[in-house]
Amino acid sequence: MIQIDRYKCGYCGACVGVCKFNALELVETWIDIKDGCTECGVCSKVCPVGALSLPEEASQ
Ligand code: SF4
Ligand code: SF4
Repeated sequence: MIQIDRYKCGYCGACVGVCKFNALELVETWIDIKDGCTECGVCSKVCPVGALSLPEEASQ
């Protein structure tokens, strides 16, 4: 599952729109990541502040 850095996230909602699996949802000021995430990485590429990362990137 994709990792989110909640201190970086600006809650712009850009990532929510690009996920074709509808695994991201903006709930008030919280991005919810659901079980449907396939770690495709698309959302991490569109995030303007780099708040989303795949687990292997996050561990580096
Ligand atoms: S990694 Fe892919 S499937 Fe997972 S939340 Fe991001 S866009 Fe959706
Ligand atoms: S694209 Fe990035 S900054 Fe915008 S809501 Fe998603 S994680 Fe947060």
